[in-house]
Amino acid sequence: RSYVALPKPPEPFTSPEIRCNKIFINNEWVNSVSGKTFKTINPATGDVITEVAEGDKADVEKAVAAAKEAFKFGSPWRRMDASKRGYLLNKLADLLERDRTYIASLETLDNGKPYTHSYAFDMEGTINVLRYCAGWADKIHGKVIPMDGDVFAYTRHEPVGVCGQIIPWNFPVLMFMWKIAPALATGNTVILKPAEQTPLTALYCAQLIKEAGFPPGVVNVVPGFGPSVGAAISHHNEIDKVAFTGSTEVGKLIQQASGASNLKRVSLELGGKSPNIILDDVNIDFAVENAHFAIFFNMGQVCCAGSRTFVQESIYNEFLDKSATRATKRVIGNPFDLSVDHGPQIDEIQLKKIQSFVESGKKEGATLVTGGSRVGDKGYFIQPTVFADVKDDMKIAKEEIFGPVQQIIKFKDLDELIERANNTVYGLASGVFSNDIDKINYLIQGLRTGVVWVNCYNAMTGQTPFGGYKMSGHGRELGEYGLQAYTEVKSVIIKVPVKNS
Ligand code: NAD
Repeated sequence: RSYVALPKPPEPFTSPEIRCNKIFINNEWVNSVSGKTFKTINPATGDVITEVAEGDKADVEKAVAAAKEAFKFGSPWRRMDASKRGYLLNKLADLLERDRTYIASLETLDNGKPYTHSYAFDMEGTINVLRYCAGWADKIHGKVIPMDGDVFAYTRHEPVGVCGQIIPWNFPVLMFMWKIAPALATGNTVILKPAEQTPLTALYCAQLIKEAGFPPGVVNVVPGFGPSVGAAISHHNEIDKVAFTGSTEVGKLIQQASGASNLKRVSLELGGKSPNIILDDVNIDFAVENAHFAIFFNMGQVCCAGSRTFVQESIYNEFLDKSATRATKRVIGNPFDLSVDHGPQIDEIQLKKIQSFVESGKKEGATLVTGGSRVGDKGYFIQPTVFADVKDDMKIAKEEIFGPVQQIIKFKDLDELIERANNTVYGLASGVFSNDIDKINYLIQGLRTGVVWVNCYNAMTGQTPFGGYKMSGHGRELGEYGLQAYTEVKSVIIKVPVKNS
């Protein structure tokens, strides 16, 4: 199933100690200006884990002042060699490796995802992106340009400045590093807001940032809610760029806030309704397993989830039966249990939203093949769910469910398929399963999505750009393109007395 071998996790800490629950500004832990706190909940039980300092506008002001000071011309961070920035990022990666079991355990406690996944997938990706960006730090070159006239022209790739970063709850520590690693590799300073549901791993990593030796004010972490901390960041006149991952609805607000304030640069990674296309020449068991992984990984809480499984007519029934059987084999339960691969949804709001999607699927005439019900009355568990006979215009085929609900949709031939697969406001990802290279190439060209996975799904590492067409966002994260999003290009043109070729 996996495209890379992931390490086997050691035993988790089932009650990891909470070491950081305040606001991190200037490499120091502070209470919120208001003195308020908010609760973070264990989604597997519904119990309160701890209280966390609740930031607001006034705390964002303090964080911006710190980030501005750290970015000031001549500051230690601005004077630091690019290679040293890379060294610090590698040092941070070393510290994450040292504390990998603890952080993975904390992630599972706060988010509910199976510990085996936190350890193997999330932490692997987190460390990978740090090392990838660390390697780039001193390899970002401008160009010498043969400009007309007696001049010497070149470009400098400079940091954008003070960057606001707002992240969601589905991959808390991974998103934290996807955001800060390219920003720091290119010399920016950061104010980051973790999601209110999952602040704990970002706060712990802030402590490691200090330990690694980043100067004060380079990274500031302000936990709190979207309409307060998030809005203060997106509207701030002294923040030069905002990077956001989350819902398309809030993505629009972020972009509007930029327009209403200082036209700060905006990069957005938003929702999706990604088509995963299974042609009839495949090994069905292989395709069933991969399509299952594409939608059920992380309990369906994945922006690029393969949430529309398009299956060619002649294999539809067999594919459906096998997919339903596979879904019932998921092991639901305590996410710290090493045999569990299916934990709770993030909170009650998401659970209810998913349940209402299931009801709408039934009402609109799709066939509920398996699942659909809540599991237990503690925590926010829902059964892995499979719908058959799904039509393109049903709500469950059009809107992002963000839950463990597979829509299996029938198609006849490739011509109708491209139009149907692209008939969505989103364009984040797509999958193609086939052994026919001509059909695969045809689909690759036709699909309007930021990534096309062929005979694999959810394959992503630091080297390859990730981002969406259409309302799935704009800009790319990761890869060389992801670093460019954190630089301004300055053209320098110097008059010279005489120029020769
Ligand atoms: P959200 O977009 O509301 O939250 C994401 C982040 O944005 C959080 O940090 C949140 O505090 C912040 N935020 C919320 N309102 C804000 C505002 N007005 N200004 C600035 N920041 C704000 O997502 P959610 O409510 O947690 O989930 C809702 C839906 O979003 C999900 O059901 C799912 O469809 C989608 N979602 C997508 C992703 C993704 O990775 N693309 C991640 C999480 C959720």
